Parts: sequence; C-alpha cells; structure tokens
Amino acid sequence: MSTSQLVSEQTSATVSDLNIEADVLVIGGGPAGAWAAYNAAVQGVRVVLVDKGYCGSSGATASGGTSVWYVANPEQRETAMASREALGGFLSERSWMERVLDRAHANLHQLGSWGYPFPWDQQGKPYYRSLQQGAEYMRLMRKQVNRAGVQILDHSPALELLMDQEGAVAGAKGIRRQAGGRWTVRAGAVVIATGGCAFLSKALGCNVLTGDGYLMAAEVGAQMSGMEFSNAYALTPAFASVTKGAFYRWATFTYEDGTVIEGAGSQRGRSVIAKTLLTQPVYCSLHETPEEVRAWMRTIQHNFFLPFDRSGIDPFTQRFPVTLRLEGTVRGTGGIRIVDNSCATSVPGLYAAGDAATRELICGGFTGGGSYNAAWAMSSGYWAGQAAAEYACQLGAKANQRQVHSVGQAAVSSESSHTFNPQEVIRAVQAEVLPYNRNLFRTERGLKDSLERLHSLWREIRHSAAPADSQALPAREAAAMVATARWMYTSAQARKETRGMHKHQDYPHQDFNQQYRLISGGLDTVWAKFEQELVNRELVAL
Ligand SMILES: Cc1cc2nc3c(=O)[nH]c(=O)nc-3n(C[C@H](O)[C@H](O)[C@H](O)COP(=O)(O)OP(=O)(O)OC[C@H]3O[C@@H](n4cnc5c(N)ncnc54)[C@H](O)[C@@H]3O)c2cc1C
Repeated sequence: MSTSQLVSEQTSATVSDLNIEADVLVIGGGPAGAWAAYNAAVQGVRVVLVDKGYCGSSGATASGGTSVWYVANPEQRETAMASREALGGFLSERSWMERVLDRAHANLHQLGSWGYPFPWDQQGKPYYRSLQQGAEYMRLMRKQVNRAGVQILDHSPALELLMDQEGAVAGAKGIRRQAGGRWTVRAGAVVIATGGCAFLSKALGCNVLTGDGYLMAAEVGAQMSGMEFSNAYALTPAFASVTKGAFYRWATFTYEDGTVIEGAGSQRGRSVIAKTLLTQPVYCSLHETPEEVRAWMRTIQHNFFLPFDRSGIDPFTQRFPVTLRLEGTVRGTGGIRIVDNSCATSVPGLYAAGDAATRELICGGFTGGGSYNAAWAMSSGYWAGQAAAEYACQLGAKANQRQVHSVGQAAVSSESSHTFNPQEVIRAVQAEVLPYNRNLFRTERGLKDSLERLHSLWREIRHSAAPADSQALPAREAAAMVATARWMYTSAQARKETRGMHKHQDYPHQDFNQQYRLISGGLDTVWAKFEQELVNRELVAL
C-alpha cells in the first residue's frame, strides 16, 4: 500500500525515472488540458502537462472533431440558453452559461488569430461554431502550449496524486510508457483534465477515457456531481466505431425486412432503437439526405465516411446495420464537482476541467455533446489553468518544500501480494454498464443487482498490489471504471425519478421535489446525496 510512502524516501529510481518540480501540473492533453496548460503558462509559472497518449492526437476531440456552442449575436443568446434547460431537467445555471458563452467566444477568436482554418459561412465570415477538424485544432493547441513554454510528457499516464501533510494536492506520479520508468511531478497545484469515462466501449477517440481522473480525485477526497447522467449512447454503423451523429437527422431506421421502425430517430427516438436492438438488428438508410448536403458532408466530416469507404458501402443508397455505443460521461454530463468559478474542487490545490468535471452547470442532465462540451472544455480549462497558477504563486517557494505522499488506493499497494487480471475486471464492469437494459433503461432491481456485483469487484481490487509497469495502467484503468460505475449507479439509485438522460423505468416522471443536483463520492463506502442549494426552482416543466 502506497499511502504514506514518502516520495522523498524513494530508493528505487532508475536511469529513466523523471523527477520534476513545477508550479502547475496538468493531467490530460485534450482541449481542456491544453487550454489549462496554455493559460497557466502565460501567467509566467512553470507548467508540466502529462498525457496518457500523445497531446495533439489523443482523446475525443482530436479524433472526432467538435461543433462548439458559439453565439455571437447577443439577441440570440436567450434562445440558445433556454434551448436545453427543459431537456436538462432545469439543473443548469444561467450565470454559468453566460460566462461559458463569453469565454468560448474569446477562445474561438484566439484560435482564428492563431491560424485555425475555420470554414466560411454564407456571409463569407469565419464559421466559429465548427472545430470539426479535431486533429488540426489539437495540433494547433500543442503548438501554442509548446510556445508558452509548457513541458509536455507524452505517453506518460498519471496513476495517482500526491498530497501534502495538510491535505492539499501537491503533484502526481505515473509511468513512462515509451521511455520506460516512472515520473514524479511535484507541483503547487494540479489540474485534472483526463476526459470522461466511456468504459472502453470502442467509441471513437474514447480508448483512453477510462475515468482515471475521477478515481485520482476521489482518492484525495473530491466529490462527483451528476454521475447519474452518464449513460450517453451514440449511433454508429454496427461494424465501426465512428459515433459522429449529425447526419442521422436524415436517417430512416428499419427492421431487417425493410419495414420502418415507428418512433425510431437519432434525437428523440434513440430509446426505440435501443429497445429494438435488444431483440434484433436495426438498419439505417440515409437516402433522404438532400443532394447538396451529401457532397458538403464529405468536406466537413470526412471521418464519418471512412468505415463506409473501407467496407465499400454507399450510405446514401445502401442500408447498413447500426448500433448504439456507450459514451458514458464523455457525451454525458457527470464528473468531478467544482465548487467555484475558478473550477476548483473541494480539495485545496486540485482543479478540474473538461469532461473530467461535471457539465451540469451548462447542460443540466442532458447530453453535453453537440456543442456544449466543446465550449465547456476550452472555458473550464482556461479558468482552471489560471486559478491553478495563482494558487501555486500564493504558495511560492513553500510549495515544493512540503512533505508529500502518494495517495492511490487501488492497484498501487507496495505491501499487498494480491493481484488481479485487469482484462477480467474490465469485462465484468462492461457487463454491468454497456447493456441498454441495465444502463439506459434503469430499474431499482437492475441497479441493486449491478451495484452488488460492482461493490464486490471493488473489494477484490481495493488493496491489490501494484503490478509490473506493463500492467500498471490497465490495472488502474480497471479500478477507475469500477469506481466510476459505482458512483453512476449509486446516484441513479438515489434519483427516484426520470430527468435528463436518466430514465428510470420504475419512476417514469420528473419530480419537482428532486430538482437538485446529486453529489456523490467515496471509495469503500460509496454515497450519493442531493445538494442542498436550490437549482432553478422557478423553472419547472408545466
Ligand atoms: C465522436 C465524438 C464526437 C463529439 N462531438 C462533439 C461535438 O460536436 N460538440 C461537443 O461539444 N462535444 C462533442 N464531443 C465531446 C467532446 O469531444 C469532449 O467533450 C471533449 O473532447 C472534452 O475534452 P477534454 O479535454 O475534457 O477530454 P478529451 O478530449 O477526451 O482528452 C482527455 C485527454 O486526457 C488524457 N488522459 C486520460 N487519462 C489520463 C491519465 N491517467 N494520465 C494522463 N492523461 C490522461 C487522454 O489521453 C486525452 O488526451 C464528441 C465526442 C465524441 C466521442
């Protein structure tokens, strides 16, 4: 067990082990982490960014590309803000929406000035709503992060956080997957920007999104919020992982014999598709797509066509089988609870941004995909980076003189001899969270049964030994997925109603008395309780 294992007492350092001192450590190099690192560095502090993969190509944005919540015309803002309030179950906040719209506006114009190739709108102006060239966006962000003087460690996943004697976060430890060995970064403040958790469902760009940041945050005592809103499922050809959904607005969904499935649709009729998929395949035809859109679609979302081109299918003239892939909290809205405008968590020295943080503040309990998440990632990252830099500056030289210890609690013990097979644990969690009749259509019975099995999995891995470096990452990913699933279902159990994307079969209606956010947390004993603050109680569905 590594609790109380003082970093300064480490004796087994090898040549390739890295020990770095910084003011701010950013964990995760998607848009949220890149904006955080950039904005911390321009405050004049020393910043290190670590990524599990390669900052610039790893994560959901780099592979998928995003539309962004950008509303330039102040008169259209009211409509833009109101549009998801009801869908989100009235758990969002106007003040947060306004500041995200302002920040995203500024950041998008900054991207334009840095040279991001925005497409042109019909008036011949840059179309700031589209960052669909995700790889281009993230390549540009990496360049700016480098220019700002940030030290980037690629292929260097964080495994656990460091804490000082007073309970403040003071850095992190991880492994170097390509160079070999370990890294330790002691820092005044840490920003967690590790993205969401899609439970290795094979959705596009989600192979690295296993909830690692949630587990690390919970191990230092941080809380989650909105974890019941974690069951986003996205449409994809059954033979592919590309979950880009914009074009399914023209889709017709059919049974195998070609009969149209009544009520099935990509926006409102997804549950009908899921229900049908429980017993038989579902086919999709895009033949109603207007002629002029077909060519244009190729230019703005070329990745949508890749699986079709590879399989020799013309999606506009041929039917193809579809499925729904779990994207969990990636296009859901749950995540680490933030407690103020700076994106601080409840633990001193720890900040959260992007999908690692809750997005209920701007989209309530409905999906953050489609534009909100992208605006949130760049805004929350920007604020978290700035606040982390200020916090580190206040600590000054004292920051790195602190006695620190690592606080990981699962799959990192140096005292235990018990090991587990990460692949088996991952399959066991997936069996609880991927099926539609468990996670999409929730019931008291199903949640209770799943939780019993998930709690038992947690007990199995809880005090397990740190495996060899080659297994260290999958072991921590497995632990993070088990922990995430437990906060999800414990929150889902506590919300005895249907709201946002949380669809409870035993409580099919929205209940005014539950119009509160649900916070959750804990490792051995998982808990969930309603936040006492009133949320938009004047706004209710009539
Ligand atoms: C196919 C698809 C399409 C989407 N389209 C839209 C859209 O049109 N509009 C919209 O608003 N949203 C969209 N989304 C959601 C959007 O992509 C995410 O909200 C956004 O990427 C979040 O940014 P992030 O930086 O928080 O996370 P990510 O972009 O996922 O990046 C997280 C990073 O953290 C790293 N990481 C993870 N664990 C660790 C660790 N232990 N140590 C170090 N690094 C770690 C990962 O390698 C990754 O680089 C889409 C998502 C998908 C999957």
